[in-house]
Amino acid sequence: TAKILDGRLVAEQVVARAAGEIAASDRVPGLATVLVGDDPASAIYVRNKRRRCVAAGIRDLHRKFGADVTQDELAAAIHALGDDPGVTGILLQLPLPPHLDAAALVSLIPPEKDVDGLTETSAGRLALGRPGLRPCTPLGVLELLDAHGIALSGAEAVVVGRSNLVGKPMAQLLLRRDATVTVCHSRTRDLAAACRRADILIVAAGLPGLITADAVKPGATVIDVGIHRTPDGLRGDVDFTAVRTVAGAITPVPGGVGPMTIAMLLANTATAARLPANAYGATFLSS
Ligand code: NAD
Repeated sequence: TAKILDGRLVAEQVVARAAGEIAASDRVPGLATVLVGDDPASAIYVRNKRRRCVAAGIRDLHRKFGADVTQDELAAAIHALGDDPGVTGILLQLPLPPHLDAAALVSLIPPEKDVDGLTETSAGRLALGRPGLRPCTPLGVLELLDAHGIALSGAEAVVVGRSNLVGKPMAQLLLRRDATVTVCHSRTRDLAAACRRADILIVAAGLPGLITADAVKPGATVIDVGIHRTPDGLRGDVDFTAVRTVAGAITPVPGGVGPMTIAMLLANTATAARLPANAYGATFLSS
């Protein structure tokens, strides 16, 4: 059966590294997590992120808004955080209530404070292979693969999902590391056939148990990004019990990609605190 890729263990190492950088720096990072409304999953995510950040020496500059906040009120708040020199990172927790335009609000985050890596500047810099802040979840997947010595150069990598949050940046990061990348999505004709090509299969489709054993090449590395709350606890997009008998290595849910995502947020926050104002041309873009 497959080797279990323990995300908690690697996350601890990443967090220790970030905490060390923060302790050695003369600028204390301040992370503004912005939470809107009462989505229970978002509340749990934000609470965990804040707790881990404080433990790593990051100032908690959390902002909470009611579900009825207007676009203009939220935009003004993000502008103020962007101008505040004590705020070195801004994380707008998604999804937002439907009356708000999330993309427009994300675009107000100065790129040098974009610890989630979701602004147009960050996405563009990733696509062009320039330095910048990268989205936490795909960055965490890469860190997990590296920590286990899984070679990427020339490997067949298949990404299931093409969201701006996970699938697309994941594919870009793998390309930068010289993998041969295939991106599958909801219109892919024969998903199992495409997945069977993978030496490294990364699944972020948001469908519990989507990937079954017949979609996995024997010995492949399987990374499960999906998170679903079920009556039996947290589950992923991969049928873990069946796939672990075929795969060479696999991430568990929970305890795989989830802890890596939070760890990379801390790493990005430590990085962002070292960036000078306007490091990525924010002033030019917003003026
Ligand atoms: P999303 O809904 O934005 O995107 C899902 C993608 O999957 C889409 O691009 C869609 O084309 C594709 N897809 C849907 N059905 C498919 C099918 N039948 N076959 C192939 N592809 C299909 O979701 P997301 O934001 O990318 O998140 C995906 C999953 O990852 C969710 O379960 C989410 O909760 C989880 N997630 C986990 C973490 C973490 O830290 N572990 C972080 C972000 C998201």
